[in-house]
Amino acid sequence: MESVFRTTGRWLRGNLHTHTKESDGRVEVAEAINKYKEAGYDFLAVTDHRKTVDTTDFTTPGFLTIPSIELNGRDPQSNFIYHVVGIGVTPFEQEDREWIGPCQEMIDKVRAGGGVAILAHPYWSGNDVNDLMNLRDVCAMEVYNATCMRHGKERGEVYWDSLLERGKMIWGVAVDDTHHYDIDVAAGWVMVKAAELSTSAILAALQAGRFYATNGPAIVDIEYDAQEIRVHCSPVTQVRFIGRRGSGRSVIAQPGSEITAARVKLPRSPYVRVECVDRQGRTAWSQPIHIG
Ligand SMILES: [Zn+2]
Ligand SMILES: [Zn+2]
Repeated sequence: MESVFRTTGRWLRGNLHTHTKESDGRVEVAEAINKYKEAGYDFLAVTDHRKTVDTTDFTTPGFLTIPSIELNGRDPQSNFIYHVVGIGVTPFEQEDREWIGPCQEMIDKVRAGGGVAILAHPYWSGNDVNDLMNLRDVCAMEVYNATCMRHGKERGEVYWDSLLERGKMIWGVAVDDTHHYDIDVAAGWVMVKAAELSTSAILAALQAGRFYATNGPAIVDIEYDAQEIRVHCSPVTQVRFIGRRGSGRSVIAQPGSEITAARVKLPRSPYVRVECVDRQGRTAWSQPIHIG
């Protein structure tokens, strides 16, 4: 797998989960989009519940809006609720009868509409890992969902690792899931390496895992050879190399200091993913890298 940090292209900052007054967000579409423009974002997916809002008029040469949606459903057999975000879909609305049905139906609907499917906040939803294992065509899951902090359930690493442990390769995204525009904006985002600022280039990068997730720190480089794996990042207090089961290792800065690089012996694992954690606990999450 080619390293995202060594491929050509531009780093683009985006939020993949946003609500407006078109569903249960607190501001109108125009204001929502302006907040992200002002915050220096390159792209935004407005993902109102159950309908795609037309945001094409807000796209400018330096700011891209991607037609998107959040589908809500409940599996009648397991009784679990599932939220699926569809990025880059042909605009549609979710019918009332489609509220009830397995998660796979929502994913299939996103895929049929040409979009990329992301499993939203599995921890907040209380999803079951065994159910998630059976899902097909899911590009990513939210490893960080800022608005779920209200319920103490913003981080979903254990779900992610449980899937990776069992061989399900799935990418991780960080998102705002913006509802409250005073505190949710710019709380979790993705840095995508894409050839250009266009929907097709961003969708291709998401599918290929050419991005990382963060709510603060930046990952500058990750490289590895047969012996070791090395990371460069913005100043952090801890770099975690996470592999399967007991493999992997953390590199921790001396008390009161920070590090911008770390290296460890290559873990005995089919994959490794990297977390760079700063003084405030903010984290950058790399995608899992196949090393086995
Ligand atoms: Zn949701
Ligand atoms: Zn949402």
